Amino acid sequence: MCAIKDPKSGDYTFMFECPMCGRGYRDGQHVYEGRTIGPWQIRICQTCHVMNWDGIVESHQPRLMEHLAKIGVKVDYNESGFIKWPSGYEPPPPTPRQPRHRRMR
Ligand SMILES: [Zn+2]
Repeated sequence: MCAIKDPKSGDYTFMFECPMCGRGYRDGQHVYEGRTIGPWQIRICQTCHVMNWDGIVESHQPRLMEHLAKIGVKVDYNESGFIKWPSGYEPPPPTPRQPRHRRMR
């Protein structure tokens, strides 16, 4: 984690590594790119949350699965065979202006 100062606003943000995609996301003053998934004890980037609105593809997330196994979380699967988000933490479904994300499966 490292602090970054915005040269324009003077606000500080911090870089965190997303446990799902491994990319960095920023959290700090006026910037909230992370999403806390309370029951899973993780904080992930907004992109992973929104892109996986219809569930998580288990085979794409070895690190997440390892983490969930370690903390003893049992996951549920939806009709498509994807991992369901914990109740109350589901990302919003895509709106017409935010087209459905197409993944390689
Ligand atoms: Zn991510």
